[in-house]
Amino acid sequence: MDESIYEKNRLLQRKLDNLLKQARANEKKQELYETFGFEVIGANTPKQLRDLLLSQIITRFQLHNVVLCLIDHHKDTERLFFDHDDEARLNFENKLLILDTLKDAEMIESLISYPMLGSEVFKKYPRMISSLKSSDQIKSAAFLPLLRSDRIIGALLLLSQDSSRYQQGVGTLFLQKLSAMIAVAIENCLNQQRIKEISYQDVLTQAYNRRYFDLRFKDEIARSIRWDDDLICMFLDVDHFKKVNDTYGHQTGDLVLKRMAALIKEQVRACDIVARYGGEEFVVALPTTTPPVAYEIAERLRQAICLTPLSFHDKQFKVSISIGMANLRSLSIAQSHDIELICTTLLDRADKALYTAKAGGRNQVAVHTNSATQWIG
Ligand code: GH3
Ligand code: MG
Ligand code: MG
Repeated sequence: MDESIYEKNRLLQRKLDNLLKQARANEKKQELYETFGFEVIGANTPKQLRDLLLSQIITRFQLHNVVLCLIDHHKDTERLFFDHDDEARLNFENKLLILDTLKDAEMIESLISYPMLGSEVFKKYPRMISSLKSSDQIKSAAFLPLLRSDRIIGALLLLSQDSSRYQQGVGTLFLQKLSAMIAVAIENCLNQQRIKEISYQDVLTQAYNRRYFDLRFKDEIARSIRWDDDLICMFLDVDHFKKVNDTYGHQTGDLVLKRMAALIKEQVRACDIVARYGGEEFVVALPTTTPPVAYEIAERLRQAICLTPLSFHDKQFKVSISIGMANLRSLSIAQSHDIELICTTLLDRADKALYTAKAGGRNQVAVHTNSATQWIG
C-alpha cells in the first residue's frame, strides 16, 4: 500500500514537472511572439515592416520560409513596399504575393477567415508556396488570415521543415494574436505612407514636389555611388512662361504646367524622378543613365514639347522648354561620400547648364561639361 502511494506521488510529481516545463516554454513562446508583435506594430515605414515580415520572422521563429499575401485594393502595395527598390524586390521575390482584386479574384475568394494548420494548407493554397525556393522541403504550414474589422486584407503563411511544427488541433492563440497585430501594422503603415506621399505631391501638376525630390535624390545618389553607376540630373524650364500667363491668363498657364508634367513623365521611365522644383521649373533625376542616352531623352522631350500644339478652350498655341543637365560621374567629389555636397553640386551644375541653354537662345539642351565629359557632340 505504501509502495503504491509512493508510486502515485512519483507519477504526480512527474506530471507536475512536465506541466511546469510546458508552462515555462509557453511563457517563453509568448514573450517571443509578443516582442515580435510589438516590433511589427512599431514599424514606421513599409520598408521596416517588409524586413520584419519577410526576413526577420524567419530567423526569429526558426522557419523555413514565409509568404505574405496581400489584397491590393489600391493598386499600390508593391510600390509602397519596394519604392522602386529593385534589389529588394529581387531579394523578396515570391515571399510577397500581391493579389489583384480582378485578376486574382478567385484566390481572394478562397482566403478563409480562420487559421489553418498542417499539410491541408498546401492542398488549399498550392500557388502561394509553389514558386518559393526549395518548396519541396516544406513539411508543415500555418495559414493565418490577416483581418481588419472582419475584412480579410491578406494572409500570412509560416512554413516549416518540421512536419510536427504546425499540426491540426494544436493551439493557435499565439499565432492568432500575432496575426492580429500584423494586420493592424500593415494597414496603419501603408495608410501612413499614402498620407506621406500626398504631402510629397505637387497639387497642381501631380508631379512630385521639391521636398520629395530632395529626399529621393539623396537616396539615388547614394545608390549610384554604391553600384558605381552614373546618374543624370536635369532642370527643365518653360521658355517665356511669363508671356504665356500675360497673353492667355494665369489659369491657362496652370494648365500648361500640368501638361508639361504629363509630357515629361511620358518621356522618362517609371524609376526616374520627375518633380516640380519651383514655379515653371521641373527637375528630373535619371538613375543608371549615361550622358549620351540622357541627351537623347532630353532632345526628344524638348522636341515633343515644342512640336505639340496646346489647346485650352478656344486658345491654341505652342511653348518650348530649355533643358540643362549634369551627370554624377563627372564630379570629382563623387567619391567623397558627402552626399549633401554631391547633391547640391550636381543640382548647381544642371542649373548652370540651364542658364547656358537660356542664354544660347532657349528651346535647347545644354550639358554641363568639364574635362571629364567629352561626349557632347
Ligand atoms: P525664361 O524663358 O527666362 O524662363 O522666362 P520666363 O518668363 O519663363 O521666366 P520668369 O522667371 O521671368 O517667369 C516665370 C513666371 O512663371 C512668373 C510666374 O508668375 C510664373 N509662375 C510661377 N508659378 C506659376 C504657377 O503655378 N502658375 C502660373 N500660371 N504661373 C506661374
Ligand atoms: Mg521660364
Ligand atoms: Mg524659371
